[in-house]
Amino acid sequence: MKGRFAPSPTGHIHLGNVWIAMLAWLSVQQQQGTFLVRMEDIDTQRAKRSLGEELLDDLEWLGLTWDEGPRVGGAAGPYWQSERYSLYEAQVQAWAKEGILYPCYCNRARLQSISSAPHGHEGIAHYDGHCRHLSEMECQQLRLQKVPSWRMKIANREYDFTDRWQGTQHAQLWPGADDFIVKRADGMFAYNLAVVMDDIAMGVTEVIRGYDLLPAVGAQLWLYESLGAPAPTYGHAPLVVDEKGYRLSKRQQSITLRELRQSGYSGAMILGRLALAAGLVTTKQVGPFETLTWSALVKGNIENLSLKQQQVKLTNFDIVI
Ligand code: GLU
Repeated sequence: MKGRFAPSPTGHIHLGNVWIAMLAWLSVQQQQGTFLVRMEDIDTQRAKRSLGEELLDDLEWLGLTWDEGPRVGGAAGPYWQSERYSLYEAQVQAWAKEGILYPCYCNRARLQSISSAPHGHEGIAHYDGHCRHLSEMECQQLRLQKVPSWRMKIANREYDFTDRWQGTQHAQLWPGADDFIVKRADGMFAYNLAVVMDDIAMGVTEVIRGYDLLPAVGAQLWLYESLGAPAPTYGHAPLVVDEKGYRLSKRQQSITLRELRQSGYSGAMILGRLALAAGLVTTKQVGPFETLTWSALVKGNIENLSLKQQQVKLTNFDIVI
């Protein structure tokens, strides 16, 4: 089996990232598989190469090792999405030719008016299928005025899958409403397209990531089906939150690994406290200093109950969050 950690280098690595990396790594080790790291720097406005390099430095400082990816190489590279645009472009063009995609000329104001309307199923903002039914003549006219985005022509689909921690899941796709964008008008490829194409190309069989990405699975299963590839197994892990229940993400000024390092934490302490907070290990296993090595982590219980929730509270970091 092959598992992966696929961070977006849009800021410094924080405890939320370490938590996911740790679980993905642990699962791979317990199955004696291959661990891959991929840099999801597809969003050229937010992601930076330098942040990606720092992120890799941080992973190395933490002692997390990977078998395939940036710096170590491998047969399925490059492992930076910014170096894989030609692959995404070729797929978009092939699909456009086959009529699986259609150009969308809707402007931002129009899309905003749809998304502020009462939402459909699951409370997610949906498209109204407007450009799906444009005639060739209309498209030709619009093409003169605007560069289109490209949307997937979705068919009615229902997918059932079992998430390792969240249990039986049901995803439903509706034609029109769920016609998601694969390439934006500004030329940027969508996360869903890049992540699925790369996971297929790199032979990833297990996807472990944060609970917040669970709603993306439906669109991703559609892409696996369209690309004729088997879907991976999924594990959507609870998000780590602070004492007040706030998510430790970059946007909320969460604690970065660098800050923890500066305030005296070692990699072993960070690992130990995270694993302890999540109930992966016992206080006996981490000892009085609550430290843990990666090799000891392999004894951690990844199937425990605390992972079957949406959040894990971190209260054992004595630093102001
Ligand atoms: N790059 C995504 C993120 O950092 C994760 C993608 C995935 O694991 O599917 O949020």
